[in-house]
Amino acid sequence: MVLQKLNSQLIQKYSLPKIKFYGIQDIDKLPQLKTLSEIDRLAMKAVAMVLPFRTNNYVVESLIDWNNIPEDPIFRLTFPQAEMLSYEDLNILIYLIKNNASPDKINHLINQIRYRLNPHPSGQKEYNIPIFDNEIVPGVQHKYPETVLIFPASGQVCHAYCTFCFRWPQFVGIEDLKFATRESGRFQDYLHKNRGITDVLITGGDPLVMSAKQLSRYIEPLLEPEFDHIQTIRIGTKSVAYWPYRFVTDTDADDLLRLFERVVRAGKHLAIMGHYSHWQELETEISQKAIRRIRMTGAEIRTQSPLLRYINDSPEVWSKMWQMQVNLGCIPYYCFVERNTGSHHYFSLPLVRTWEIFREAFQKVSGLGRTVRGPVMSSLPGKIVIDGVTEIRGEKIFVLSFLQGRDPNWCKQPFFAQYNPNATWLSDLKPAFGEKKFFFEDRLKELLC
Ligand SMILES: *Cc1c(COP(=O)(O)O)cnc(C)c1O
Ligand code: SF4
Repeated sequence: MVLQKLNSQLIQKYSLPKIKFYGIQDIDKLPQLKTLSEIDRLAMKAVAMVLPFRTNNYVVESLIDWNNIPEDPIFRLTFPQAEMLSYEDLNILIYLIKNNASPDKINHLINQIRYRLNPHPSGQKEYNIPIFDNEIVPGVQHKYPETVLIFPASGQVCHAYCTFCFRWPQFVGIEDLKFATRESGRFQDYLHKNRGITDVLITGGDPLVMSAKQLSRYIEPLLEPEFDHIQTIRIGTKSVAYWPYRFVTDTDADDLLRLFERVVRAGKHLAIMGHYSHWQELETEISQKAIRRIRMTGAEIRTQSPLLRYINDSPEVWSKMWQMQVNLGCIPYYCFVERNTGSHHYFSLPLVRTWEIFREAFQKVSGLGRTVRGPVMSSLPGKIVIDGVTEIRGEKIFVLSFLQGRDPNWCKQPFFAQYNPNATWLSDLKPAFGEKKFFFEDRLKELLC
């Protein structure tokens, strides 16, 4: 309490950083955007009407190199790009805006465009929601036996939005927050009853937009003896990159770190799953300080990101990022394939290119950086890794395997798909060697019934 008071006094007295959000209404106001032409800004606004746009003062002032726009990766990571919509959609939308079309007409088009952007990939909504006592458990996803995902209701936004985000439908409000849970009671019952669950992953949006107090309502109960089977608590967050002050100067930064300490002291493994897309996010002093402070609590930081065209599509970016993470004591964990939703056409690369970049980056770092796994497609049947491209008896193929499967039996069993230089997602792949289906397909149908 005393510390909290002192902290808020300090903020006033020394004007410690306070988050300031920027959105569509700031596109014409931000001085940094003045170098863009009017038509570029109009296009940016048009895209921001369809897909979520939010950034903040730290991203704008400390992460983006404004001498390097529009190429700057962090600029592309948070500011809408004209090419994120199809040429036709963008032009019709701009035409309607310029000619003062009625809001109804504009909204109608916006919604049409959104539904063309595949808002519900991978059957997330339909298939992973657990039933307990004949009722669904709100805000929980349970896909793999040992791990449960929790979506706290007040953690369903982020300190800034990534332009590629696969959770975009929830930020523009076309997906109701069926995913989110307000009360912790029902998921606690569910966890209590399912002794096979060892891992809880609190995710969002970004759960660390919540206050330490709110977050503790989800976490503290799990530290009680009746939840002995829960050994690991993970928090998926982008705040280490987008708002590192969360761990250093925010009014409840210290409370948050004390909460982390309590989790560790209770004998659990606490993993902060830090979402980092580029090494630029690790360069600022404050971001490194945040990492040091988190690690002092005994929590681990594991890192993950998708591989994205225009943002991190070179081996050097990845190897430098992993190396910096290892130096700072973080553990590289996942490198994802960009998902088939939203502006997938803009950010995605052919699977073969993604694999080549991953492989080349992997070769450049020592074993401590090779804890990273990828490139991974998080898809309906499970987490599928592209292990490589090779040739067997004259047929060029992709070698694939599961890191996680709806049926754990599928894991680490190599399987093969016809080589296709243009494939960007699992749905583009066909079984190799003239097979009619992949080995997991029959069982998958059974499991999804
Ligand atoms: C990735 C993922 C997990 C965690 O898998 P790990 O292999 O333990 O990292 C759990 N649930 C879902 C739905 C996931 O996508
Ligand atoms: S931080 Fe994560 S959930 Fe939030 S916009 Fe970025 S990718 Fe999406």
